[in-house]
Amino acid sequence: LSIFACIVPSYHKQEEVIMPFNALVVRKDDDGKTSSAIETIELDDLPSGNVTVAVEYSTLNYKDGLCLGAGGGLVRNYPHVPGIDMAGVVESSDDPRYAMGDRVVLTGWRYGEVHWGGYAQKTRVDADWLVPLPVGISTKQAMAIGTAGITAMFSAMALIERGLKPENGPVLITGAAGGVGSVATALLANMGYEVAGVTGRPETGDYLRTLGASRIIAREDINETIKRPLESETWAGCIDAVGGPMLARVLGQMKYGASVAAVGLAGGADLPATVIPFLLRGVNLLGIDSVHRPYDNRTAAWDQLARHFPMDYLDRMIVPARLADLEQLGKDILHGQVQGRVVVDVN
Ligand code: NDP
Repeated sequence: LSIFACIVPSYHKQEEVIMPFNALVVRKDDDGKTSSAIETIELDDLPSGNVTVAVEYSTLNYKDGLCLGAGGGLVRNYPHVPGIDMAGVVESSDDPRYAMGDRVVLTGWRYGEVHWGGYAQKTRVDADWLVPLPVGISTKQAMAIGTAGITAMFSAMALIERGLKPENGPVLITGAAGGVGSVATALLANMGYEVAGVTGRPETGDYLRTLGASRIIAREDINETIKRPLESETWAGCIDAVGGPMLARVLGQMKYGASVAAVGLAGGADLPATVIPFLLRGVNLLGIDSVHRPYDNRTAAWDQLARHFPMDYLDRMIVPARLADLEQLGKDILHGQVQGRVVVDVN
């Protein structure tokens, strides 16, 4: 026995604590209607995976709103535990990259959609999906950033790779008071960019200014279907969480050679645009996916966030929540009624 004890890599394999814990479980009845409730479950109920994590915080993204309700085609099987993001501490690991006590964060990989997610006190996942949390970011801060925030970072990185510099002019953020928009606003303003935020909620103007926006643009001023394919060259870059007619308008307002990072569809999946901005102004439309990003790209984005994101600004955008609040908050985010970032204390 002592020989085997020597060769078993004991640094990463730990005894799991067999205690029931809470999870927000969504069930579907025979009529196809979904309902959610906090249930007590056990480790054996969790899906397979090679790392078990004690979740500290999760968050709420637009996709979570869908998965908390009818699923929007994202959830394959019920019962389901939603929560597309989580941050916590490794409890046990069969993977040499992670050991008990490591602080980790997970976004993407269809976690919380196809796989059970972070609205639970414990989760079991594939080690390939995890990213070690950089020093300087707490698990709470990581979830204030979450998928929305890392996507804002991916977008900023894409724009900068295509030549965006602060001296090029103002950057437009659409859906500015939402999750992606809030982080994008604070991030770019802190990196020295002049930021203009589009919002449909005039009451969020002060909030957006505290994040660093220097101009607030009313949604109705930019949401109409295009009348002319080109308008005056205004924006040196754009992070667009809205899509639809707004993105079409924005394309015609971009400066020569500027890029738009297309992130979301809060205003619609259609793109009623013309190709003229691409042909006459060399405008670039950059697609941003956060779900299947390679590992190196993720660690780079978290490192950039640790370096460039003003962490004290997170306090201005955090809406604290518990598992019991999520049913209502899920409805709110689908109606564009959540300001900033919801951080869910699952314990
Ligand atoms: P939020 O709901 O937090 O933010 C969306 C914001 O868009 C709202 O707060 C609102 O901002 C604005 N908005 C809502 N409805 C409309 C409308 N009908 N017309 C114009 N503007 C509208 O969601 P998230 O920030 O979490 O996500 C934003 C989008 O990005 C979603 O579509 C989401 O699916 C997508 N996304 C994509 C990712 C990717 O990998 N590509 C990753 C993360 C998110 P305001 O009140 O300021 O106008």
